[in-house]
Order: sequence, then structure tokens, then C-alpha cells
Amino acid sequence: MHVLPFANEPIESFGTPEKLNEITTALKDVKAQFGKTYPMVIDGIKIHTDSTLVSTNPSTPSEVVGRAACATRDHADAALKAAWKAFESWKLWKQEDRSRVLLKAAQIMRSRKRELEAWLIYEIGKNYVEASAEVAEMIDFTEYYARLALKHVGSQGNLLAVPGEENSSFYIPLGVGVTIAPWNFPMALMTGMTVGAIVVGNTIVAKPAEDTIVSLSKVFDIFEEAGLPPGVVNYLPGKGGEVGAYLVEHPQTRFINFTGSLATGKRINEVAAKVGEGQRWFKRVFLELGGKDAILVDETANLDDAALGVIQSAYGYQGQKCSACSRLIVVDSVYDALLERVVERAKALKIDLAEKNPNLGPVCNAAQDAKVKEYLEIGKKEGKLLTGGRRLDVEGFFFEPTVFGEVSPTARIAQEEIFGPVVAAIRVPNFEEGLRVANDTVYGLTGALYSADRARIELARREFHVGNLYFNRKCTGALAGVQPFGGFNLTGTDTKTGGPDYLLQFLQMKAVAERF
Ligand code: NAD
Repeated sequence: MHVLPFANEPIESFGTPEKLNEITTALKDVKAQFGKTYPMVIDGIKIHTDSTLVSTNPSTPSEVVGRAACATRDHADAALKAAWKAFESWKLWKQEDRSRVLLKAAQIMRSRKRELEAWLIYEIGKNYVEASAEVAEMIDFTEYYARLALKHVGSQGNLLAVPGEENSSFYIPLGVGVTIAPWNFPMALMTGMTVGAIVVGNTIVAKPAEDTIVSLSKVFDIFEEAGLPPGVVNYLPGKGGEVGAYLVEHPQTRFINFTGSLATGKRINEVAAKVGEGQRWFKRVFLELGGKDAILVDETANLDDAALGVIQSAYGYQGQKCSACSRLIVVDSVYDALLERVVERAKALKIDLAEKNPNLGPVCNAAQDAKVKEYLEIGKKEGKLLTGGRRLDVEGFFFEPTVFGEVSPTARIAQEEIFGPVVAAIRVPNFEEGLRVANDTVYGLTGALYSADRARIELARREFHVGNLYFNRKCTGALAGVQPFGGFNLTGTDTKTGGPDYLLQFLQMKAVAERF
């Protein structure tokens, strides 16, 4: 199969009137489609239900973006059955043919970029660049895994030869998996988790987050258009605690690819460990969960660079990234100078409706709204409010970018994932103590060090215990094929999405010996 080598999809900055016009036109077109109802899809058949899930615009929550069918346990049974039926033929497809369908899907996504970005802007409150980065990441995962899968075909490994025998080993897919995604990167994460599994011959039941039912309906239509056979991906919008939980415990589920919160991940891990009635395997469980990511700044750092990196990492998409900087750990001698720069930059950020392309749009939903409000009150008791600290008195879920100073490393706002535009700044006496504080959480996803000291950089390379570590740059924005992504500790099972080993998790090796 001859295709160009993988290259990351460019992220649009919307810096020209032409590009701005493209996105504003797409926003208008998408808004004209508000209020439609989208089906679930089982075995290629579109199914509507009487009771529906409702998705609203977090900038203006009274606006209904769309509705979707709400799957029940019976639908989950039917979807698993359809996926097992499709598995029998999909697993036999030549790898090149499977990869080709995905390359075609990536091309359709590329041709519909502005429209897909517009859905993300309205459905989950991303600004233009954040929406573009997500659509680009979805295309990247699709293109990268389509190529990577070709490497796992045929006889594998450097096996020893034994006289009189021919020995070989090769990979086969696992069967039917369930993918369950969070709302913050619906297109990139659901697509990545699903494509990684199907490209090597598995089939999937995909359960989106309740807030993202329209965006993902658009994406799964693209797979159908690209020629993915019925039943290979079954799209099952439904409630997490009901149909999601049912799929996890179901004896016909072979593996679970989950991204979401620590609380849900823990429950899934526990439930999936039980072998159900008639179940003939141990379920594989892949978990990518929360973060409490730190940027550590020492006295040798360029403080202007550090302040910019903190702002980008803490407030991009309102801090609703698993990789977002939520702890700023600063060596005492530069603490005041850095905090002054961070506060000044935070105050300059523009808050507005997502469709107006502000620096900060709304947080995603009413639950996020309540959670961030609660943590602001906790923060006011635990730290010194340096800027922000307020929810705007408007309909949408808007918060000022907030910095609390003089926070203790053990305070709740320094230990618990807030998932909003809130930074806890911690003063430490020196770099060594800063590194200790950075590692002192249950999570281990991303981290950054701003320093000009080579020995400290090398020490942090070894000892800063996170899955994705960055020096002298922001701690968000990992690129597929460049920075394989996944966390340590209770952040998860370190799946390393967009990395060279990702697909092996959805395969098992068969070793065959023939005596001549
Ligand atoms: P969540 O755990 O509430 O929900 C995630 C998904 O799980 C949703 O689709 C939900 O419907 C479903 N779900 C809920 N309860 C379930 C159950 N009992 N059984 C099965 N499924 C269930 O998380 P969220 O609020 O949607 O997402 C935010 C979280 O995701 C944050 O903690 C964030 O850090 C994390 N996240 C992690 C990564 C990563 O790569 N590590 C990436 C993005 C988001």
C-alpha cells in the first residue's frame, strides 16, 4: 500500500478574513440545523426512541443543539450481538482494505472540517482554534492508526528456529469492545479509541458522553459514508450510569476502552474484573482518567515564557483538559515576579460566547458549573485570591480565569481535579522541594518544568513521574505520532494514544508450530 508518510494535520489559526469567513459561514449553517433528533445506529440500522437525550449550547443553555435516541439495555444487547456478527467477517478483511476505509474517512473529515468545528463550538463551547485542534487530532488518529496497523500484519518477532519444525507467530484481534468517551474531546477521543480498535479487526459498541451526542452522530455518519460495513461500529447514545454500566459488566464485552473521570474509571475497573455468566475471557480494560498537572518554575527560568505557558496550559478550553495546568509550583525567589506576570495575562483574557471566538468560553454543562462554583468557594478558604474567583451573572456557564496564591500542597484545590479555569499557585523553597510537591498527587498525566539548568532538567527527566513531560513549553497539546499520550498512577493504564505501540493493546498473539 503506497501512501504518503504520516504528517500532523495543520491547526487553523483563523488569522485571515477568508478563514474567518469560512468558520462564520459554517456556524450559521450549523445553527440552522439546531433542534434535530439523531438516531442510534445498530448494525447499520438507524433507530429512534420515544425518550431522548437533549444536548444544549453551554454558551446559551436555553438553546437546544439537538436530541438523540437514548439506548436501553435491550439496545445494548442488540448492539453487542451485531458487533459480534460483524466481527466474523471484518476480522478476515485484508489489513490494507481495513486501513483504506479509514483513510477515506479521514479525507471526508478533512473536507468537512469547518462544519465539524462549528458543531464543537456550539455543543461544548470551544473557541475556534481549540475546535480546529480537536478536529485535526481526530484526523491525525485516523491517519496514524490506518498506517500503523500495516506493521502488525504477518508473521511477527525474531523466533528461534527448531530443527524439523516451522514456527510462526502472528496477531489476531480480540473481538467486540466498548468505547466510552468524555465530553471534553468527543471527536478526537471517541474516534481515536474506536479507530485504534477497529483498524486491526475488532468491532465496537461506542457510547458517547451525553453532552456530545450531536457531534458524534456527525462523525459516525462519516464512517458509514467511507464504507465501513454495518455492525463494525454501533453508535449507542445513552446514559453512562445505565447503558454504559450495563455494557461494562456485560459478559459479551471483550474489552473496554474508556476515557473519563477517576471515579468512573475506578468503578469500571472493578466491575470489569468480575467474570460474568457465560463469559469466556478476562476483559481487557484501558483507562485514561483525570489529572492534577503541575508546571514547576525555578529561579533560572525565563519568566515571560513561563507565564505564557501557564496561561495557555491553564485556561485553554477553560481548563477542561486532562492535561491542563492546575498547579503552578514556583521557587520562592521568583514566585512574586512570576505570579505578577500570570495575573496580568489572566486579567487580559476575553470571556464571551464560544461562537464569538473568545479566549475563554463557557464550561461545558450544569454539573461543571456547579463544581467550579464549589471549588471557588473552597479556594477562597484555602488560598489567597489573586484574580478572578467569580462566575459571570449571565445565562451561560462562564467563569473568570482564576488564580489562588499561597496554596498548601495538600489543600483540596491542590489535590483534587477541578476541571475548570482555576490555578493553585504553590510557593516552594527550592527546585528539589518543587519536584517533590509536583509528584505528590494520586495522578500522573502531564507536567512541565521551566528551567535553564541542565542538571535539573536531567533530574526531572528521570524523576518527574508523569506520562507526558515537557521542558520550557506548555503541558497541553500532545500531537499524535510525536508525543504518545497517557498517564501514570491513578491517571490510568498509560495507553499512549497516538504512539507506536497503541494498537497492540487490541490484539493477541498466536504462536503456531508445525512438525514436518
Ligand atoms: P465521566 O467519567 O463522568 O464520564 C465519561 C463517560 O463515562 C461518559 O460517556 C459517561 O456517560 C460514561 N459513564 C458514566 N458513568 C458510567 C458508568 N458507571 N459506567 C460506564 N460508563 C459511565 O467523565 P467526564 O466528566 O465526561 O469527563 C471528564 C473527565 O475525563 C476528567 O476527569 C478528565 O480528566 C478525563 N479525561 C481524561 C483524559 C485522558 O486522556 N487521561 C482525556 C480527556 C478527559
